[in-house]
Amino acid sequence: MKAVAVFPGQKQYRVIDHPEPSIEHPAEAKLKILDVGICGTDKEIVAFQYGTPPDGSEYLIIGHESLAEVVEVGSAVTHLKPGDLVVTSVRRPCGHSDCLACSVGRQDFCYTGDFFERGIKQRHGYMTEFVVEQAKYMSVVPPTLREVGVLVEPLTIAEKGLTQLWQIQQRLPWACPVEPGKGQAYCHKALVLGAGPVGLLGAMKLVLDGFQTFVYSKADPGDLRRTVVEQIGATFIQAETNSLDQMAEQIGNIDVVYEAVGASQLAFEVLERLGTNGVFIFTGVPGRKAPISVDTDRLMRDLVLKNQISFGTVNASIESFRDGIHDLAEFLGRWPEAVKSIISHRYSIDDAVIPLSGKAGGIKTVIAVHS
Ligand SMILES: [Zn+2]
Ligand SMILES: [Zn+2]
Repeated sequence: MKAVAVFPGQKQYRVIDHPEPSIEHPAEAKLKILDVGICGTDKEIVAFQYGTPPDGSEYLIIGHESLAEVVEVGSAVTHLKPGDLVVTSVRRPCGHSDCLACSVGRQDFCYTGDFFERGIKQRHGYMTEFVVEQAKYMSVVPPTLREVGVLVEPLTIAEKGLTQLWQIQQRLPWACPVEPGKGQAYCHKALVLGAGPVGLLGAMKLVLDGFQTFVYSKADPGDLRRTVVEQIGATFIQAETNSLDQMAEQIGNIDVVYEAVGASQLAFEVLERLGTNGVFIFTGVPGRKAPISVDTDRLMRDLVLKNQISFGTVNASIESFRDGIHDLAEFLGRWPEAVKSIISHRYSIDDAVIPLSGKAGGIKTVIAVHS
């Protein structure tokens, strides 16, 4: 079968022929891959900055954002049947019995760093025709999400981040007042940094959770990303024409920052503008560049005097996948055009190297393996 593989030793990536897998354990299911999304991690892997083949293999099949159809299930699988659509999680446990996180299925919090990730770290990914995996890592997606279900994995970043945000804010009185006759009022303001797929999906989740949401991005007027922001009822703030101080003045008290650009200088300059009792959520992974200076006295004073918290979040549990499936259906009901327009390009698997080598613009590029 066809697969898109990177050969780190040869500094190459290409479509290869790879043996089709078959079910070997009763708890496994076999999937026909429909869609695989391309993200910044994949671009880094094909630039040989990242990514490790499985032990004994000279190549790694890439792809971790998937939507697939179940074609066969092992005898012990009860929650799936052939024909179901599924998304499959990415990270697998490290296998160390003393890892508190992996031993309870929360490998997204793995302590040892010896976890595995499909399509990224020592496990083949999903950019291929068929995949066999333990069914417990698969979540059923309703048929109504056929067109956009591949967005569940990037949405899980926001799901895990906001689950933690709500837990963290239980530390203080944070519930907005209920207005007589109007129901629950929304009183918190969230700022999203960046309008790529992670930023836009994060903005959708923040709007869904009731935040007055602002997106700060370099996208030009007329850019599709800006249209998406407006369609979901968030406010776009153009980075080129608005300084950070102007942005902060427009918003007022910034209760939440959802960082989705991976640019550390911008992130720390915005951290200086985080509001009282604010939470800053880091999701980006910057490349290593020269050190920059930050106003550490100001940051530390504000952390203390404004009760601020900043945290990073990576990967997601199966619960975040289920939350993502639920919320993606909500998004699609509210803003069908905005959600669909996030997937701006589709390529066949034969042409997968074209977008991987950086030649596709738009928001999210998807490899349509089977239609
Ligand atoms: Zn990704
Ligand atoms: Zn672990």
